[in-house]
Amino acid sequence: MKAIIGIDIGTTSTKTLAYGTDGRIFSEIEKEYPLYSSIPSEKEQNPEEVYSAVIETIRDTVKVLQEQGVEAAGAGFSSAMHNIMAVDENGKPLTRLITWADQRSVKETEALKEGNGHDIFLRTGTPIHPMSPLTKLMWYRKNEPALFKQAAKWISIKEFVFYRLFGTYAVDYSIASATGLFHLENLDWDGEALRTAGITKEQLSVPTKTNSIFTGLKEELQQELGLSGETPFVIGASDGVLANVGSGALAPGVVACSIGTSGAVRTVVDKPYVDPKQRIFCYALSEGRWVIGGPINNGGIALRWARDKLFPDLKKLAEQEGKNPYDVLNEIIDSVAPASDGLIFLPYLIGERAPFWNSDTKGMFFGLTLHHGREHMLRSVMEGVMMQMYSVVIALMEAGVEPVQFRAGGGFARSQTWKQMMADMFETEIVIPESHQGSCYGAAWMAMDALGMVDSLDSIEQTISIDEKQYPVNENVTAYRDIKPIFLRMARDLQDEFKAISDVQRSHAEGKRRLSADNEEEIL
Ligand code: ADP
Repeated sequence: MKAIIGIDIGTTSTKTLAYGTDGRIFSEIEKEYPLYSSIPSEKEQNPEEVYSAVIETIRDTVKVLQEQGVEAAGAGFSSAMHNIMAVDENGKPLTRLITWADQRSVKETEALKEGNGHDIFLRTGTPIHPMSPLTKLMWYRKNEPALFKQAAKWISIKEFVFYRLFGTYAVDYSIASATGLFHLENLDWDGEALRTAGITKEQLSVPTKTNSIFTGLKEELQQELGLSGETPFVIGASDGVLANVGSGALAPGVVACSIGTSGAVRTVVDKPYVDPKQRIFCYALSEGRWVIGGPINNGGIALRWARDKLFPDLKKLAEQEGKNPYDVLNEIIDSVAPASDGLIFLPYLIGERAPFWNSDTKGMFFGLTLHHGREHMLRSVMEGVMMQMYSVVIALMEAGVEPVQFRAGGGFARSQTWKQMMADMFETEIVIPESHQGSCYGAAWMAMDALGMVDSLDSIEQTISIDEKQYPVNENVTAYRDIKPIFLRMARDLQDEFKAISDVQRSHAEGKRRLSADNEEEIL
């Protein structure tokens, strides 16, 4: 029997699973590592720690397979997007790995938005945002000029790992397409983006197809991993696009929606699409397949905030009674009717990405009256998160996507109330596929496809059973239709005020009370 190892290099851990061609899981190993944040805006990883986790989990997986008498026939890789690090000419790290969550380049992002950022976006498909490696390079150029000059290469974590394994710098089209530096149509680095970043093509890896096969693992690693030099390693793609593969959301109109701590809406299209309004991203998946969609920052984290702030004793009391705190939370939410008696929550507690890509957005309850209690507020938080997901769906529909099915996953799927809300707001059937660790499974399946072990990328769908379906309820649909347009208008119209209140919050946090330059009479 044969298995393919899927490796997903994530922000908090590396997950390594071994799958059969029927989707069965032979082994599942995870190794965590720290995310360093010496100042709040910085979110870094130690590339050596990540590399060690990759090596250890592959080694242990191979052992588990050997014990079961299963052959490790190859490996496929998924990794987080938007991370970047500098190495010297010997491949030695000069920086830590700057992750997608790092916010150091806020100022460079603002400057780029006011300059040639939109033009660059229209060719690269990566929204102009501090997550983008393009803006991180701009930050290094300005703030660390000596290091910037010294850097022989700027690479992502997967490139670092592949360099260690095979001694060459290669980047798959998918990871490259999320750097803000890659021309989607030409499948090559974008000249103007490179000039804006201040680097040359030679300082980046060679872009390669996501199904490219690497062999010739370094000898010392063959020993350590228990694999031969012939074992094929398929470079794979990014975790985002592979999550679509791993949940079977590949056919036209099938939209993957996940809500965990954050959330995302994604669908596959057959050619690059860039949104003229820059609301959604476009990243490469495989030959003739691209993923468009948008991530939201405020997913389950917003609900958790509401639980802890509005019902501070709920968790403790529930646990004393032997109940799951979220079950109690869902009961409270169910006690309020859909649309929360006209209370709306804008869930922007930690800034927001899609569709407005504004780090300054803030949360807001709108429509409060004496009638409303904290149970209404709680329900409106859950509804606000779902309306935010819906706003990304709308941007996808404007891009020409006609949703035929939503495939949902993530922690939110443990809540019946929340899943029903998705069906009611999206006004269509929601399907909950069985979870196989989406991105990891997608990476393994992409490798199986590249190695000719399965019919196609699409045939993964036949191995994923549907756990559950959720259907819209007419009465709820109507209630939500009344509040959705108000939510969308407010989210759009408040963008400038979010900036204003953020400035106040920042200056007050620094102990400054500044005099407003606004003429209040003119405002009224
Ligand atoms: P992560 O994205 O960090 O992997 P998960 O996918 O496990 O996280 O999702 C965690 C989130 O899911 C929590 O923040 C919470 O909002 C939500 N969640 C988990 N269980 C429930 C539940 N039973 N009811 C409502 N929400 C839940």
